[in-house]
Amino acid sequence: AKKQRIDKILGNLGYGTRSELKRAVKQGRIQVDGQTIKDSGLQVDPYHSEIEFDGQRVEYREFIYIMLNKPQGVISATEDRRDRTVIDLLDDESRVFEPFPVGRLDKDTEGLLLLTNDGQLAHELLSPRKHVPKIYIADVLGDVNEQDVARFKEGVTLDDGYLTMPAALEITGSSQTPDGTVSQIRLTISEGKFHQVKRMFEAVGKKVIYLKRISMGALELDPGLPLGHYRELTAIELELLG
Ligand code: URA
Repeated sequence: AKKQRIDKILGNLGYGTRSELKRAVKQGRIQVDGQTIKDSGLQVDPYHSEIEFDGQRVEYREFIYIMLNKPQGVISATEDRRDRTVIDLLDDESRVFEPFPVGRLDKDTEGLLLLTNDGQLAHELLSPRKHVPKIYIADVLGDVNEQDVARFKEGVTLDDGYLTMPAALEITGSSQTPDGTVSQIRLTISEGKFHQVKRMFEAVGKKVIYLKRISMGALELDPGLPLGHYRELTAIELELLG
């Protein structure tokens, strides 16, 4: 297995900066396989060595799984030349794991975004063959009606000729505004074409004016998580996804 510097391993796990860890080594606070180490650059295989800090066993982990309530105005990417990205919302302790977003939400879409450095899980969630259901809520300009519900169930043809898979559309409310009727809806889709929700409503002559994702597979957005905030998945949530 891959060896890494002990200060890097512990630094990545949030045990301190490189210089803090160097001092901790000097002070004899770190043991590897029962031996007090003298070199903060010691190469260690974190999976097959027992690391202790102040006598406490260090729990090594490679992966991080973050639930973010994405706000509008940030890009679902790791880098962007112009705009802030979802990675910019994370603190350094999370960023050291180099997470990336699992799939994309548009710049003006809010809600559940999973960030991880676990490429295999990301691949499984994004695989078109897995049909992982995603639930969105939206405000739609126009009077969404039962005919639209029926059309979404059959599949609608997008502007590029693609026929969507059956989708469950529910009308949850409507209100009158100076711009006309605005419908509140909930939509479950099991695929993820570019701008899919917006384009499905365009296909029936209506416009999405607010969009938020509230679930992905078994993972639901924590209602206690404010926009722009994030937390790590619980063990139970991770189990549900895997
Ligand atoms: N569908 C969209 O149109 N936009 C998103 O961000 C997600 C799904």
